[in-house]
Amino acid sequence: MVFAVQCPNPSCKKYQLVEEHDRGKVVNCLLCKAAIRVGGGNPAAPQPPASKPRQP
Ligand SMILES: [Zn+2]
Repeated sequence: MVFAVQCPNPSCKKYQLVEEHDRGKVVNCLLCKAAIRVGGGNPAAPQPPASKPRQP
């Protein structure tokens, strides 16, 4: 699963997708090469549950 992180550079603010396994790591922005810390989740975009309970 991938999710979006936002570049902290005020003049960039580019969103880019990072992989689930990049959580807790630091990636570099593709545009400005700023270091983007990949947090434990994106509070602005909560992930939906992976599986919905299905009523028979
Ligand atoms: Zn950037």
